[in-house]
Amino acid sequence: MLRFFNTLTGQTEEFRPMREGEAKMYYCGPTVWDYGHVGNFRSVICTDILRRYLKFKGFRVTHVMNITDVDDRIIAQSLKAKLPIDEYTEKYIAAFWEDFEALGCERPEVVPRATRHIPEMVSLIEKLEDRGHAYRSDDSIYYRISSFKEYGKLSKINFAGNIAGASERIDTDKYEKEDARDFALWKGAESPDEPAWDTGIGRGRPGWHIECSAMSMKYLGETFDIHAGGVDLIFPHHENEIAQSEGATGKQFVKYWIHYEHLKVNGESMSKSKGNYYTFRDLQEQGFSATAVRYYLLSVPYRKQINLTLEGLRAAEKTVGSLRDFHARLKEAKVEPGANEHLRDAERRALEEFEAGMDDDLNTSVALAAIHNLTREVNTAIADHALYEENKRELLALIERFNSVFNIFVEEQPLLLDEEIQKLIDERQEARRRRDFARADEIRYELNSRGITLEDTKDGVRWKRR
Ligand SMILES: [Zn+2]
Repeated sequence: MLRFFNTLTGQTEEFRPMREGEAKMYYCGPTVWDYGHVGNFRSVICTDILRRYLKFKGFRVTHVMNITDVDDRIIAQSLKAKLPIDEYTEKYIAAFWEDFEALGCERPEVVPRATRHIPEMVSLIEKLEDRGHAYRSDDSIYYRISSFKEYGKLSKINFAGNIAGASERIDTDKYEKEDARDFALWKGAESPDEPAWDTGIGRGRPGWHIECSAMSMKYLGETFDIHAGGVDLIFPHHENEIAQSEGATGKQFVKYWIHYEHLKVNGESMSKSKGNYYTFRDLQEQGFSATAVRYYLLSVPYRKQINLTLEGLRAAEKTVGSLRDFHARLKEAKVEPGANEHLRDAERRALEEFEAGMDDDLNTSVALAAIHNLTREVNTAIADHALYEENKRELLALIERFNSVFNIFVEEQPLLLDEEIQKLIDERQEARRRRDFARADEIRYELNSRGITLEDTKDGVRWKRR
């Protein structure tokens, strides 16, 4: 029985989707103003484990992940770079997918971009205005929190007490509001340099929160099963999503809210000023493999904080190396017909323990322990010539099943030669000339997964090995 801790109810509950056998989930994806840091990728990987385990359990998964490609930081950076926002974000969207694929994550079914869904956001805001949940002030539109009685039900923050104190944290908008807690649904354009859209509600751009309400409901319906994200999003982002969606539809927005704990580095919060800030690329440059980073980030259950240390990463590198060796040894093992029943018991036990761990709110450390115990028993059996043909076949299939969730048994690929790389780059350029961007992307990902980073410059494509 699959159980999740649901932030909304504060309890661990059996997962019972709205439609039998189907799971509809939404994850708040990247804001593409810079390269993703390891904390972002912990969330991405937790979500990947969630979607893969739902599939393992036989659910048909529809997973939506948005890309926030307009926000204050993007606007500020693109103005600095003197680029239209689409051109500015293009580089970081491509980089995100490179990192995503290198880390062995499966693409969500739908990946909507905020800038491509302005009409949906506008019509949601109009609905909120009709229902008395929104008001205008100057050229902006705000959500009237006092109109939504259940505000706070996710974060359990008691707003009655100390609004003045709380407002310091909440009030990040510099506009005129009825109440300090109210948040912007639509920000009227202040200057002609700002990216803005001309719409029925005026010229401006959407607030961040409305994006997720509009795009999740467009692709998953007014009520859906799972909404996931980091704990830092519970308030105000997810609280506001609930207020917007339920305010507009009068229906429950999401059944299960799943939140991942923070990542720390050497016991401290990551920050650029402390010098303990790492993008995934920084770790690759230090020589860590993507699989080791993935292993490390998934090894701690999502509801616990994870502490990133370089020693820990080095240990993860060793572990994924030993898993790879184990897999190779098993594949190459010479075996006689028949089966070792003792080993069969170990196989059965490993699968049971794996599933029991994952069923228990995705306890990845229990599930990994089951895998490691099994590899020890099999290693002993191989050394004692007690591995038989049927065990080998079953074990290879079992590893496939574990790997469909964890994706940590990966084969080392032979190094690409310089001329092979150049050939693929030429092929990619040719594909781009044909406007076959799917093929061009495929080649970029292929090269990326083999440790080659491409950089498109004015003078052509440069590449480097990581
Ligand atoms: Zn969101």
